[in-house]
Amino acid sequence: MKAPAKSSGSSSPAVSTPEARAVADPGREPGERDRLDLFALLAEHEHEQVSLYYDPSTGYRGIIAIHSTVLGPALGGTRFWSYPSDEAALIDCLRLARGMTYKAAVAGLNLGGGKSVIIGDNSTARREALFRAHGRHIESLKGRYITAEDVGTSTSDMEYIKAETNHVTGLIGRSGDPSPVTAYGVYRGMKACARYRYGSDSLAGKAVALQGCGSVGYHLAKLLFAEGADITCTDIDPRRVKRVVEECGAKAVASDAIYDVRANIFAPCALGAVINDDTVQRLQVEIVAGAANNQLAEDRHGDLLERRGMTYAPDYVINGGGLINVNAELHGWAPERARSKAGEIYDTLLRVFEIAREERVPSYQAADRLAEQRIASIARVRRNFV
Ligand code: NAD
Repeated sequence: MKAPAKSSGSSSPAVSTPEARAVADPGREPGERDRLDLFALLAEHEHEQVSLYYDPSTGYRGIIAIHSTVLGPALGGTRFWSYPSDEAALIDCLRLARGMTYKAAVAGLNLGGGKSVIIGDNSTARREALFRAHGRHIESLKGRYITAEDVGTSTSDMEYIKAETNHVTGLIGRSGDPSPVTAYGVYRGMKACARYRYGSDSLAGKAVALQGCGSVGYHLAKLLFAEGADITCTDIDPRRVKRVVEECGAKAVASDAIYDVRANIFAPCALGAVINDDTVQRLQVEIVAGAANNQLAEDRHGDLLERRGMTYAPDYVINGGGLINVNAELHGWAPERARSKAGEIYDTLLRVFEIAREERVPSYQAADRLAEQRIASIARVRRNFV
């Protein structure tokens, strides 16, 4: 059994877990089990540690996966999900932890990658004891893992965790909504794509097809409008579309029609897996640059984008602003410092495109190489006892 390939980690709650369902292997006969080769699973992507904790008093069943602590403590959200099997939960946790390592590395943060899952029904009202059990689990790792919100958890759950450990971030009244920082990072990333593609980073007069007018999409639209971009937008929520149309002079289209809009840039800011066999043929743009996590349905869709001549800003590079915001809370950064760090996504993306050109690989692979280069170089610097 293999852990699915790395995909970008996320602390944001928009990712569902279809991969987790896939690994449950519905084709398997009842009662039939593959042998769970736990250490082979860890060795496959060089995860450092997995911790399991069961608390009978609450029924808490939690897994914490630490992929890498080379750059710093492993940070990643807590996902609360009713997995079809413990195995599916473990594999999801390993996959997401690894994604966080890459995301933090390319964002230039001194953080490693980790993730945790609580197995169960995330609609339960009996949360305090459960999350305090999770907090104690985190505390037992003595700072090697730091948690935050993710699918199925909220800021109030983080407060319960905080009662048992300081290794938690994203608390009420602290760094707050990460969306404006994320949107700013996406905007800067889009400008880098324009510079790479057109020789100028101005977005004035550029046509942008925006999918999703939610928290990030709305703030992004404001920035694009201020620069004079021409926006076509869509959302399944008409009130969100209306806001972008009224405040940013955007034109609205039906949600499926966004893939057929002839534009310079497609900005996916809603769902994952939007670059797939269907859409990759339909897109009539030069650049794909947006906030959504896991935009490529499969890695090969990154190759297809490349083959069709589109410049793709790897999702976990361009949407790193959310993680930067969390890091800002951990280190007590002023909001301007977080924004400025998110602005560095511009140079990071140019470097990704340079690696892609030099090493003749698609941009999504170049991003992985950039992350791996940073981790390897810091590991070398820190090899001595000081
Ligand atoms: P959000 O829930 O506020 O907005 C998403 C929007 O997409 C909603 O308005 C929703 O109605 C719309 N939508 C859903 N299905 C759609 C469809 N089929 N077609 C068109 N619109 C659709 O979420 P957000 O915080 O703005 O995040 C957007 C994306 O960016 C997500 O994939 C998220 O994981 C990712 N992301 C967000 C952050 C952050 O800081 N919020 C950070 C990193 C990544």
